[in-house]
Amino acid sequence: MKTIIEPFQIKVVEPIHMTTPEDRERILTEAGFNLFLVRADDVLIDLLTDSGTGAMSAEQWAGIMRADESYAGARSFYRFEQRMQEITGFAQALPTHQGRASERILFELLGGEGKIVPNNAHFDTTRANVEHSGAEPVDLPIEEAKDPKNRHPFKGNINLRALEQLIERVGAERVPVVMVTVTNNSGGGQPVSIENLRGVRAICDHHRIPFFLDACRFAENAWFIKLREEGQQDRAVKDIVRDMFDLCDGATISAKKDGIVNIGGVLLMRDAELFQQATNLLILTEGYVTYGGLAGRDLEAMAQGFKEVLREDYLDYRIRSTAYLGEQLLSAGIAIVEPPGGHAIYVDAKAFCPHIPQAEFPGQAVVCGLYRIGGIRAVEIGSVMFGGGGHAPPAMELVRLAIPRRVYTQSHIDYVAEAMIELHARRDTLRGLRIAYEPPALRHFTARFEEL
Ligand SMILES: *Cc1c(COP(=O)(O)O)cnc(C)c1O
Repeated sequence: MKTIIEPFQIKVVEPIHMTTPEDRERILTEAGFNLFLVRADDVLIDLLTDSGTGAMSAEQWAGIMRADESYAGARSFYRFEQRMQEITGFAQALPTHQGRASERILFELLGGEGKIVPNNAHFDTTRANVEHSGAEPVDLPIEEAKDPKNRHPFKGNINLRALEQLIERVGAERVPVVMVTVTNNSGGGQPVSIENLRGVRAICDHHRIPFFLDACRFAENAWFIKLREEGQQDRAVKDIVRDMFDLCDGATISAKKDGIVNIGGVLLMRDAELFQQATNLLILTEGYVTYGGLAGRDLEAMAQGFKEVLREDYLDYRIRSTAYLGEQLLSAGIAIVEPPGGHAIYVDAKAFCPHIPQAEFPGQAVVCGLYRIGGIRAVEIGSVMFGGGGHAPPAMELVRLAIPRRVYTQSHIDYVAEAMIELHARRDTLRGLRIAYEPPALRHFTARFEEL
C-alpha cells in the first residue's frame, strides 16, 4: 500500500482557526516579525517545533489519572525509572523538567573555563548551556552534512577524524565529555549510524573521555538505523536503541520529543560519583530525586510515551509522513536538506531566496512569507538562531518545518506543501530583515525585526 495511514484514530479534537491576510499582516508587524512572539491562536498549522507539541494517547491520559503525587518514592517515579531501565539499560534515571535542565546539570558538573565540548552539532540550548558554564562548544559534522543535496544515509554522523585531531590538539584533559546528538536536530534531523557511535566510543576509550548522547530522538534515530544500516534490517528497534545506549556513559533527553509528552526530561549517567553530584544539583534546583521538577502524572505519561514511541508501525508512519512532505517540496523544485530528516523538513533558504544576502536573514524572510501566505508557523535555523554574540554566520540558512507527533493528518500536510509551493512561485516578493532588538543569548526567541 502506498498510502501512509496514521496508526491511530482521533478521539478528541481541537479546532484551529484561519486568519485573514490583513489579520496576519498586523499580527506579524506587532510581533516584530518574530513568530515566537505570535499567539498560538493566531496560527493555523504550527510547525514551530515538535517539542512538547505531540498528542498523547488514551493510555497516557489514563496514566495521568492513575498517577501518584507523593513527594518521595511515588509509584509513578518507579514506573518511569523501570521504563528507562528497560529501554536504556541504565541502572538509574533522573527525571528533569525538560532537556535543558539535564544539560544545565551536566555542564555545571563537567563544563567550565578552558574546557572544550565536541558534538556532531550542538542544539541551541546545549550550546548555550556549554557556553554558560564557561566551556567552548565545537561542532564536528561530517563533510557531507555541509552539502544540503548530499544524500548520505547518516548525515548526522560526527567527523571521527576531526574529533581525534581536536582531542590531540587541545589535550584530552580539556575535553570533559564528547556528545553526539541523535538525530542531529540543528543539522537537518539527520541520523547517526551505530558504526559512527562505535567509532566515538573507541576514541573516548582511548583518551578516557566520557561519551554522552543528546538522545532526544533516539527512537527515530534507531528507525533510520534499521532502514539504512547494513545488517540492521531484521533487528527489532528496541534492540537497536539498546545498542545505542550501551555505547554511551550517559545521556541528556528531552522527553518532549520521543517521550511524546508535553513536558519532561531525563538525565542518565553510569558513573556513580557523577550521578550522586547530579542528584544533589537536581534536589537544589529541580526538585526531589523522585520527581525532578515534574508532577507524578508527568512521570506516568513519560513512562507510557517512551513505550509507545518504540512501536514500529508508529515509527514507520512518523518517518514516512515527514518524507512525504519533503518529497512534495522537492518535486516542486524547492531545495531542502536531503534526504528528508526524521522530525522535520529543512528548507534551504539561501536557495529559496538568492536575492536576500545572508546578513539580511533569508530564513527569517521565508518564515514570515509562509505565515503571510498560509498562517503556518515555521522556525529559522540559521543566522538568527546561531549568529550574533560574535559567532560567525552558520554554513546553512535553513527554515525548519517540524512535525508534531500524532497531531496533523495528511490533508494538513498537503496544505503546508501547497502553501510552500505557492510561496516559492512568488519568492521574488520576499524581503530581507534587520534586527531591531536582540537579547544577549538565545536571541531567536525574543529578537524583533524590521523588514527592509
Ligand atoms: C529539544 C532539544 C533539546 C532541549 O530540550 P528542551 O526540552 O527543549 O529543553 C536539546 N537537544 C536537542 C537535540 C533537542 O532537540
